Amino acid sequence: MILRFFFINILFLISTQVISSQAKYEIEKTDLEWREQLDEMSYLVLRKAYTERPFTGKYDNFYEKGTYHCAGCDEPLYKSSRKYNSYCGWPSFDKEISDKIEYDVDYKLGYPRKEIKCKKCGGHLGHVFNDGPKNTTGIRHCVNSVALIFKKDEKG
Ligand SMILES: [Zn+2]
Repeated sequence: MILRFFFINILFLISTQVISSQAKYEIEKTDLEWREQLDEMSYLVLRKAYTERPFTGKYDNFYEKGTYHCAGCDEPLYKSSRKYNSYCGWPSFDKEISDKIEYDVDYKLGYPRKEIKCKKCGGHLGHVFNDGPKNTTGIRHCVNSVALIFKKDEKG
């Protein structure tokens, strides 16, 4: 009995260590917690890397002055001054707020695409392409509206 107790205890210690060493993001939640916090579409995009249908997102044709925050963890990700109309059907930015985005590669469509994620919570935002405005960065961050929350800038 005592031996069994020790064995379970050791297993527990090992498993908690594995979990803590896997903690990659400052904000980490279980799948259930994300599901409870987010509405369905935000959950599917941020946590399951879905893509909203083009030309349907609330920030596609939206050009107020302010900041776009991560819909998962509220981290500021993009300034409205970097938003432009790419006519691609999703909010497009030529630059992120410095050090807020993590890059990854996904092969969902059979070829590599550069995925963009929130650095703080790992939430999937969209993809980045090299067809952005040539006079600035040449980069297009193609972001799902439901992955963002816009906050108006008081200074305008
Ligand atoms: Zn986030």
